[in-house]
Amino acid sequence: MREQVYTREDTGRGPLILVNASHPLPPQPAPRLAPALPGQGDVLLERRAARMLAACVRAAGGLGKIVAVSGWRSRGEQQEIWDGSLRDHGEAFTRSYVALPGCSEHETGLAIDLAAASPAIDFIRPDFPRGGVCGEFRRLAPLFGWIERYPAGKESVTGIACEPWHFRYVGAPHAQIMAERGLCLEEYLELLRGGGLRFAYRGGAVRIFRIECGENGVTLPLAVRFTVSGDNDGGFLLTVREEAA
Ligand SMILES: [Zn+2]
Repeated sequence: MREQVYTREDTGRGPLILVNASHPLPPQPAPRLAPALPGQGDVLLERRAARMLAACVRAAGGLGKIVAVSGWRSRGEQQEIWDGSLRDHGEAFTRSYVALPGCSEHETGLAIDLAAASPAIDFIRPDFPRGGVCGEFRRLAPLFGWIERYPAGKESVTGIACEPWHFRYVGAPHAQIMAERGLCLEEYLELLRGGGLRFAYRGGAVRIFRIECGENGVTLPLAVRFTVSGDNDGGFLLTVREEAA
């Protein structure tokens, strides 16, 4: 049987990686990048995240009305933003709204800050309203694998103030599960640590569970239909489609 080996380094890769103040992103090459939205070559995302973002914006009727403000950042760029915010806004503001270099989801290429199109856009706290096309985007986002990453009420879990403009690609069906159950990424990964879950999906079902990565990595057969993502916390999340009965 053909097999695939996943190494400890691989635990820091994939759409479900947790990146926050206590889970820095290990240094790694930039992901393969693409423009976050059509015509916005200055803002980049990991390619699949970009494709799904554009599809969601299109479905919401938001092309030209929703603007990508900030996507992938190198560690150096995150450092510049941190330094600039410290200088201009002080430490309390910066600690609330800017992640420490190495601890920003933006370095993964899986996070985007969005704004409603406007002549004046605030780079650190863009305006992304709850109504109109932005609201429609918000409603559809989980179907395209995107979540509102720092919602109100989860500040004590995420460690980040409510940021209604910051979205994170976690992929399907995870975004839908998190939205339906009202879980932020930290809570979702904690739930999977405590045991697997089953989710009715696309006329069938998937099972999602976590495996710890050992010293020598994890070897998985290629025969089963599944996807794998690291969690940036020493393990992998497996998403397996159940065979029809
Ligand atoms: Zn952001």
